[in-house]
Amino acid sequence: MTHSLADGWFTEVFDQQGSAFSLKVKGKIDSAQSEFQSIDIYDTETFGKLMVIDGCTMVSTRENFVYHEMMSHVALFAHPAPKKVAIIGGGDCGTLREVLKHTGVEQVWQIDIDELVTRMSEKHFPELCESNDDPRANILFADGIQWIKDCEPESLDVIIIDSTDPVGPAEGLFAVDFYQDCFKALAPLGIVVQQSESPLYHSNSIIKKIHVDMAAAGASSSHTVPFPQVIYPSGWWSCTLASKGGDTTSFRIEDSAAKSFRTEYYNAEMHAAGLAIPEFMRRALGMA
Ligand code: SAM
Repeated sequence: MTHSLADGWFTEVFDQQGSAFSLKVKGKIDSAQSEFQSIDIYDTETFGKLMVIDGCTMVSTRENFVYHEMMSHVALFAHPAPKKVAIIGGGDCGTLREVLKHTGVEQVWQIDIDELVTRMSEKHFPELCESNDDPRANILFADGIQWIKDCEPESLDVIIIDSTDPVGPAEGLFAVDFYQDCFKALAPLGIVVQQSESPLYHSNSIIKKIHVDMAAAGASSSHTVPFPQVIYPSGWWSCTLASKGGDTTSFRIEDSAAKSFRTEYYNAEMHAAGLAIPEFMRRALGMA
């Protein structure tokens, strides 16, 4: 992936797919290099602020709600009674904010390898960080792979892998050994959910491999949920759920319909609709 800034447009180029995505920007307003990655913040004309990590778009003010709500509420309503939740990655804190909306959740650990992502988010996306002081939130900076490996067995109900793409520090978050450690850390009926890239670009590769690896790691069922995501490659993204002994296609529909908190995208109907799989994906994933 490459990116450019020319004539007032930020462009992320997806060479392998011969496509690109651009946003009109007023300018770059912050930039930092951590030991893991480069982080840039742009002020855009119509999408608010934009966070870019290693040249890849991560979060914009205008549309991040779809990703964060689907990464959290689908898994939390699929689980019978989630109390202990871990977020691996997720340093912008948007997924953490959504998880904390569930009053039954007692403890959340967010483990991002890069503290600078959270510091940049606090500065430029304060709305995503508004629940960071919740006493149930534990914001840690460490390698999520090691943190999960060291977890007490059967101590977590939901693990949300809110990672960057499977390159660099996130490569090991898309590996069968890591999933095995996740399943060890999950209590019975626990759910792991992985951000699983583009249905259009990655059904035959990354998404298919996630299902195979989750099954090898001990999943009783796994299911991919597609959702729109305008700033990511192809404008279409997904998360993949895998369960330890349960079913990833059922959910607490009545609790979801009666949820006590506000969302912008997620509701019980969107959850049910998100479980539908297009024909090309069914073929790619061996479901048809
Ligand atoms: N929504 C984004 C997307 O799909 O492009 C992901 C957002 S979040 C900013 C991704 C986070 O994963 C980054 O902050 C990065 O530092 C973190 N990360 C990458 N590898 C990691 C690892 N091994 N352990 C913990 N966090 C990791």
